Amino acid sequence: MFKQSKKIKKSAAPAGKKAAKRVFFFGSTKAEGMATAKTDKERRMILGGKGAGLADMTAAGLPVPPGFTISVPCCEQYYQSGRKLADPTKKEILENLAKVEKLMGKKLGDATDPLLVSVRSGAARSMPGMMETILNLGLNDKSVEGLAAKTGNTRFAYDAYRRFIQMYSTTAMGLSKEPMEHMLKAMKEKLGVKTDPEISADGLKELCGQFKQFYRDNKGAEFPQDPTEQLWGAVMAVFGSWEADKAVKYRQVEKISDLKGTAVNVQTMVFGNKGENSGTGVCFTRDPNTGEDIFYGDYLINAQGEDVVAGIRTPLKLSTLDTQMPAVYKQLCGVRKQLENHYRDMQDLEFTVEDGKLYMLQCRTGKRSPAAVFQIAVDLVKQKLLTKAEAINRINPEDIERLFYPQLDAASAKNAPKLASGINAVPGAATGKVVFTAAEAEEMEKNGEKILLVRKETSPEDVGGMHAAQGILTATGGKTSHAAVVARGWGKCCIVGCEAIDINYETKSMRIGETVINQGDYLTLDGNTGAVYAGQLELKQPAQPEAYKTLLGWCDDLRTIKVRTNADTPYDAENAVRMGAEGIGLCRTEHMFFDTEARRLAIQEMIVAENVETRKAALAKLLPFQRDDFVGIFKAMAGKPVTIRLIDPPLHEFTPKDDAGFQKLSEVTGMAIDKIKHRCEQLHESNPMLGHRGCRLCITYPEILDMQVTAIIEAAITVAKSGLKVLPEIMIPLTIDQKELKILVDRSRALANSLIKAAGSKLKYMLGTMIEIPRAALLADKIAEVAEFFSFGTNDLTQMTLGLSRDDAGRFLPTYVASEKDGGMGIFKSDPFQSLDQEGVGMLVKMGIQKGRSTRPDLKVGICGEHGGESASVKFCHSVGMNYVSCSPYRVPIARLAAAQAAIDDSAGAKKVSKKK
Ligand code: PEP
Ligand code: MG
Repeated sequence: MFKQSKKIKKSAAPAGKKAAKRVFFFGSTKAEGMATAKTDKERRMILGGKGAGLADMTAAGLPVPPGFTISVPCCEQYYQSGRKLADPTKKEILENLAKVEKLMGKKLGDATDPLLVSVRSGAARSMPGMMETILNLGLNDKSVEGLAAKTGNTRFAYDAYRRFIQMYSTTAMGLSKEPMEHMLKAMKEKLGVKTDPEISADGLKELCGQFKQFYRDNKGAEFPQDPTEQLWGAVMAVFGSWEADKAVKYRQVEKISDLKGTAVNVQTMVFGNKGENSGTGVCFTRDPNTGEDIFYGDYLINAQGEDVVAGIRTPLKLSTLDTQMPAVYKQLCGVRKQLENHYRDMQDLEFTVEDGKLYMLQCRTGKRSPAAVFQIAVDLVKQKLLTKAEAINRINPEDIERLFYPQLDAASAKNAPKLASGINAVPGAATGKVVFTAAEAEEMEKNGEKILLVRKETSPEDVGGMHAAQGILTATGGKTSHAAVVARGWGKCCIVGCEAIDINYETKSMRIGETVINQGDYLTLDGNTGAVYAGQLELKQPAQPEAYKTLLGWCDDLRTIKVRTNADTPYDAENAVRMGAEGIGLCRTEHMFFDTEARRLAIQEMIVAENVETRKAALAKLLPFQRDDFVGIFKAMAGKPVTIRLIDPPLHEFTPKDDAGFQKLSEVTGMAIDKIKHRCEQLHESNPMLGHRGCRLCITYPEILDMQVTAIIEAAITVAKSGLKVLPEIMIPLTIDQKELKILVDRSRALANSLIKAAGSKLKYMLGTMIEIPRAALLADKIAEVAEFFSFGTNDLTQMTLGLSRDDAGRFLPTYVASEKDGGMGIFKSDPFQSLDQEGVGMLVKMGIQKGRSTRPDLKVGICGEHGGESASVKFCHSVGMNYVSCSPYRVPIARLAAAQAAIDDSAGAKKVSKKK
């Protein structure tokens, strides 16, 4: 923490006593907001991220222009009172404004020497560009002249005024942006200039007149001249932007549901557009793409902040500031170090240089690419800024998912036609159909198409389309432009500043040199190099970065629960081991029956068999296939435990579905087609999920069990003989009763033992069951008398506990899960088929474990439903004392992380308890 000076403590509002205080001053090393709450997190919930950052930087003595933060509770109150600013809030705002005026020796909007302010949003979590900002507030027809006279720069004053009128009219007063953009363009054409800075003072004056006329025509009133009225309008506009479509969408995508509103920061304006000795920039204290410990950023000389972020002009690299303004660069390097040491994380900074003097306008935790997430966390531990546990706690499951987003296959790119090159803003690769508008991008994605969003520049309104796209390509902008920042946060490949593309939104096409690309044509983006290729190139899985391996290694050291995988083939098994799996928790053997035609026919033959003999003959054909599969899996797992589940789905899932299929089966079996059809019809069930499936199949057709147990044990014996360790665990699915299980376990054991004995082997194996029916959980003490292990099949257990079909609930569950705000009913916090319903299903799981272990204290317990790879569910499994979780190969690292975080939470909790004692 920055040290709070004694002075600050004195002047600060004690959190408890003056509870009504809602607006917090910062300036000249004093920051009232420092005392709003004990922890950094709580403070952010009051001041917002930007407000907290400004308070921190001010208290640390950094050069921050003075201002005040209107806290998040004011925003809440604004909505509660029907979008009105409460009188006490207004009063506090005016008191704080007076403080700023006193400090600056200027009055807001004064006719001779005006104080001008910026009004910016700032929620507790960064939502780049999603909410509104108004700059240069305080300008009016009189104060603009005062500013011109005081600065001796009429052009600058009117440029600031025209920007203010534009921003205020659109943001606070709801006028459309385009007409004013057209007026700006028309003025440039009239003056014969290309860029905004080339417009003369007279041109800008004329433009201000046009803008005000536009305002008058549309609003039936004069553009507001009273600075206080302007201030109320701007504050309410920022509060209002919390509920703007783009902001709501962004929160949905980012799953931000715990915030109640935004704070507003009103701050003295400093100007980066005063001339060649001024400028503005955005920088990161480390490289946000690679995570490398270098100072990274963009800036523009003679520009206001929005020019860099909006990506309208392509900015310069931060390192060149060292030669252009060496003293400022040195000071900025000092700020970088100070802030990193304080926050112990990479920061995203905004600065402005006015007449050679540096001002800090923002610091917040920087968004970073998936690879950088791990590099930065590991480096911060090495630099002793974080402990390993803190580093682990900073990683989210999404960071891991995003790490495995595809890369361009070098071989396929080698001879591919490269159309253009841009700035490689976010690494990774993407291929898809080109789309030029965000709305169409969303629409096409809904129809299952893979698309690339191509824009001249992206604006926050495009956020939905950006999220729908595989990758983003823009003609302008730098690495810190809006497109880059948002895409980086989502780990989405992004190329910006690709000046070679010439987009025509009207014809929905773009020209790159001689090539014309129409909407719907395929392109491929390589975010690592910035290259744009024609057509659909091959993408491949990226290698695991070293820092990721290091961090997951730390997770493995800390966690106590094991992580296995659900895998049905040697390929999946090998892949899962690479991902860190310590065994197989579920091998669904029936998947092997679908693999080839020979297998499909053999199982179909078994199904239509009219007596035990023909059934056994058909099963004998399947035996070698299954045995070979198991040999492959045991070898791939090289001594790690492998749980193999006996057949589970209802038999009709395997029957032929068309005439060609019936014909083929008739040829193989010699049975008449009609007879086969009749047999298949007989298998039809009205409610197959509650029908003849799971272990009920082996109760009625024990030959199936015999074949599968034989295949497992023979494969294990073969592999064991080759010198490898084998640990087969035979698992019986969907048990409902102890006696049912005993029949199957006894039969399996007798068969397995005889095979082992005949082979002269010492193979060890286990026999257990899945707990996936509520009755089995309720009677787990009895079941455990027979089963040597339990594996919770929470897919079925959820389905049967909630009485919701796992196949059909998707139709109405979204209404249950979405919050009332988002048009749902908020009945469930999350989809119970994705994140375990800890309250209901979780109670059965807990009871099942307790009861099971009351009979068999060393009962091995795991989970193999989809929940085994979901972070919150894994933490629950840890808390109820499971031995392992099992999930699909790609979710193994997520489970390793969640398991470590659960162990860290445990030990933190234990420490707290021991301190209390
Ligand atoms: C389960 O029910 O949780 C399970 C793993 O089995 P399946 O998904 O194959 O029904
Ligand atoms: Mg199941």
